[in-house]
Amino acid sequence: MDYSKLLTKRIQQVRPSGIRKFFDIANEMDDVISLSIGEPDFSTPWHVRQEGIKSLEMGKTWYSPNRGFAELREEICKFFDRHYHVQYDPKTEVLVTVGGSEALDLAVRCLVEPGEEVLIPQPSFVCYEPMAQMVGAVPVIIETKEKDGFRLTPEELRAAITPKTKLLVLPFPNNPTGAVMRKKDLEAIAEVIRGTNLIVLSDEIYSELTYGDQQHVAFSSLPDMRERTIVVNGFSKAFAMTGWRLGYAMGPKELIAQMTKLHQYAIMSAPTTSQYAAIEAMRHGDADIVYMREQYDMRRRLIVDGFNEMNLTCFEPEGAFYVFPCIKRTGLSSDEFCEKLLYAKHVAVVPGSAFGNCGEGYVRVSYSYSINHITEALSRIRDFLKQLGC
Ligand code: PMP
Repeated sequence: MDYSKLLTKRIQQVRPSGIRKFFDIANEMDDVISLSIGEPDFSTPWHVRQEGIKSLEMGKTWYSPNRGFAELREEICKFFDRHYHVQYDPKTEVLVTVGGSEALDLAVRCLVEPGEEVLIPQPSFVCYEPMAQMVGAVPVIIETKEKDGFRLTPEELRAAITPKTKLLVLPFPNNPTGAVMRKKDLEAIAEVIRGTNLIVLSDEIYSELTYGDQQHVAFSSLPDMRERTIVVNGFSKAFAMTGWRLGYAMGPKELIAQMTKLHQYAIMSAPTTSQYAAIEAMRHGDADIVYMREQYDMRRRLIVDGFNEMNLTCFEPEGAFYVFPCIKRTGLSSDEFCEKLLYAKHVAVVPGSAFGNCGEGYVRVSYSYSINHITEALSRIRDFLKQLGC
């Protein structure tokens, strides 16, 4: 059968993620050091795992309510209020999802009509553009620049808005650049948005991972922004719970109701065991976050210094767990750099171009790995540059 005729044009046009390509090649090779995946190397804290185990021992293996357990939604709202000072109603304004990924997809599907425009600052996480394409929307890319600390500027935003613009994705703290938007940066964005009909999809999955004196500011905490913001967050990054597949969306009740309908048909309900564990994470996990953040911060400083010493200039990331060094001086494209490095030195990193065309000339390196692992990778990259004659 000719599947090129059977499969929808929309899905065929979506390009596969460039993140996993190098990871998959690396998996086939021996002695590879990978700094390619955006996943904590910590296991989920034991007291959190225990609550999942306990629920299984008690035979709590049924579906949960479509929106997620009421107890979990209450805890999520308390956590968000405690950390970011925005209040949501656990009954109507929260939906528990299968990772932040599902929440992003639901929001796009509920809000965007074919032909409408979705503004996507890039470099950014790989899923936004395909999600917009899958609903027949037009992704409009806004290139953030190293000279602006890879932040979205109000001028760039204003220039991108047209009568067809429906949604702005706000991906901060950012994967892959590590950029964060400070309060004044967000206020400038809010100023542009005020008076328009734009909805903001604020992907705050790395909100707990900010460094130095940078505290995360929730976009919905700014005046007038709550009513037009969907917050996406989750458990994967802050609590090292990637495999539990749990996240959430918060926003106006009309929108959450429609997202719940879609979630009910496509997913039914988020994993039950994971929700029991997540209740514990929300109640008693603050100290775990602090501990992991301190560890990431040490690794961050090691890796930033390492790249700068090699003269692969490295913008100092203030959030998430990635660095985004510039490799332009090697004369190689991002793809060539990653491929040669992998084959020559068995080190896997991700080409910046996987996160949008403007990521060309950079590579994404994750520091959610042990100090030993990072030190060895840096030493191999140093040798690689010597071999290149750089
Ligand atoms: N947003 C960003 C920016 C991410 O980097 C990721 C995962 N890498 C996600 C969302 C999705 O995370 P999850 O589905 O595990 O919650």
